[in-house]
Amino acid sequence: MTDFVFPPPVQPGVAVSGSRGRFPVHRIYCVGLNYADHIKETGADPKAPPVFFMKPADAVVGDGEGIAYPPLTMNFHYEVELVVALGAGGSDIDPTDALTRVFGYAVGNDLTRRDLQRAAKDRGQPWDIAKGFDRSAPIGAIRPASAGHIAHGRIWLKLNGELRQDSDVGQLVMDVPHTIAALSRLYRLEAGDLIFTGTPSGVGPLKVGDRIECAIEGLDLLHNHIVAAS
Ligand code: MN
Repeated sequence: MTDFVFPPPVQPGVAVSGSRGRFPVHRIYCVGLNYADHIKETGADPKAPPVFFMKPADAVVGDGEGIAYPPLTMNFHYEVELVVALGAGGSDIDPTDALTRVFGYAVGNDLTRRDLQRAAKDRGQPWDIAKGFDRSAPIGAIRPASAGHIAHGRIWLKLNGELRQDSDVGQLVMDVPHTIAALSRLYRLEAGDLIFTGTPSGVGPLKVGDRIECAIEGLDLLHNHIVAAS
């Protein structure tokens, strides 16, 4: 057994629907600009290909948890997304074989410091501080793929009970098999990887006291609330 100079960090994990076992998180990959209506609302080139970025594995937040309003932003946004959880990995995966790597699916919220993202885009800088901050990856319980893969189905977000995002995961520009295939050409994917697949239109700001409900047809709901920074 390896000796560490201090105890290693706790392994981040996500609840699994119908199981006491948790899904161990390896990496969190995210896809940006993957719904046509959201590309339009961001003002990006409609022909621009989806972009990839990452969040730290320990940014995961579970259902029901509070999230402190993060520092150094005045424009903190929600983004409901379908999340793919991998149970196996690989490199150069063929799209026709990609779904064999999927452990299951969950609802996620790609929390974003939109003002920092705008500044980064304007300066041609990376998105890390806008996307990969502490507790930026709320995710609901993972439903195992044995209950079926998800290619279609309503996706929506309610803020304080009001519908703010409402689309269908069938509208994804780059679908789940092609997203796994594309990422596997850039990185060696591993069991434990999560992929946030992008958000539809209707993104908007959050404030302290807000209650967020994220949902996808057939998956467990994801509820979180925003609390003041302590
Ligand atoms: Mn997103």
